[in-house]
Amino acid sequence: MPAAVDIDADRFRERFEAYADIGATENDGLHRLALSDADKRVRDRFVEDLEDADLDVRVDELGNIFGRYEGENPAAAPVLVGSHLDSQPYGGRFDGQLGVLTALEAVQSIAEADVEPARPVEVVNWTNEEGTRFQPSMMGSSGYVGFETVEELLAATDRDGNAAGDELERIGYDGDARCELPEEGVHSFLELHVEQGPVLDDRDLPLAVVDGVYGLSWLRITIEGAADHAGPTPMHGREDALAAASDAISEINRLPGRLADDAVATVGELDVEPNSINVIPARATFTVDIRSYDDAVVDEGVERIEREVEAACERHGADYEIDYVSRHEAMAFSERVRDAADRAVETADVPATHLVSGAGHDAQHLQRVTDAGMLFVPSVDGRTHNEAEFTEWDDCVAGAHVFANATLELANEDA
Ligand SMILES: [Zn+2]
Repeated sequence: MPAAVDIDADRFRERFEAYADIGATENDGLHRLALSDADKRVRDRFVEDLEDADLDVRVDELGNIFGRYEGENPAAAPVLVGSHLDSQPYGGRFDGQLGVLTALEAVQSIAEADVEPARPVEVVNWTNEEGTRFQPSMMGSSGYVGFETVEELLAATDRDGNAAGDELERIGYDGDARCELPEEGVHSFLELHVEQGPVLDDRDLPLAVVDGVYGLSWLRITIEGAADHAGPTPMHGREDALAAASDAISEINRLPGRLADDAVATVGELDVEPNSINVIPARATFTVDIRSYDDAVVDEGVERIEREVEAACERHGADYEIDYVSRHEAMAFSERVRDAADRAVETADVPATHLVSGAGHDAQHLQRVTDAGMLFVPSVDGRTHNEAEFTEWDDCVAGAHVFANATLELANEDA
């Protein structure tokens, strides 16, 4: 019989409501940008709650906040659990915050059940996951795993020229702890998050174990034509950059259906020059975001986009240039963590499925250095990054229950 733990659903909900008030918008959303005054207030409350739960609190130089519950063997590599407390501008209450509070509730419940796991467990709030005020996104987890250096992350500035390092100091979260992996390493990392897509809601399921994260490619395509008067210039012989771009964009939107079931492609930015009602466009620049869990599909998609752009430019007498902005390969989460999550799903007797994430998360950075994994709870209608983001409370509780048991499973792996 595996060890099992129950969460305190009332405390979990009261705490969630209280946190959702910090930086709340009029329409039940959340506006709590990284290192803002609202971020300071929620961090203060989080530290207080960690202390009340008798966890050892430390803050590192990137402002990541940890609360440690000691295990039987304090020298063993800890299990990390958590997510992020910052939000998008006028974003939702569930994105990030639910994961941090689920992790806290899990560890507090384990502590109160008087279960001493073999390994230490640390609850963590990663600094600036959203990347909306300071880029890059996923800053805290990136620094922690050494993907980017602490110095360059602290030097990132917002639109007003404020450096992340100065803002951390201003809100009192420029911690003393080094932002680095502990000497003994990290045993595993588990994060619960809202799905931010419609699949669980469509299938009426409360939970998914996440198998991995889509690979993606970002392109910026510039098409060069020639500006001419919109009246006297006949249709033939024009070099219309926007006409070429719109041909290409239509094809890009049709492309995923021809590539793979899970492929998605998005043209999210379009700039036209000179952008004048009676001038043939001389230049059109647009971006492409293409994703799939199969890297070969992403690469094939990029090749087909190249061909479509070339064909469209030929038809319209235009030239083009493609800037390959970034390419992230698909990432599979650790089998060990997925197995632990599957066992917890069984223990908690919650109906669940497996999914792949289309969005990036802190867990992705952690997978670089340890065994990471995630659980998803549903997003009603798949809505996210806006005030309408919603998850049924029963689903949050089911997710937290599984999460607590998965945490315990991992913390009991031989230390
Ligand atoms: Zn998030």
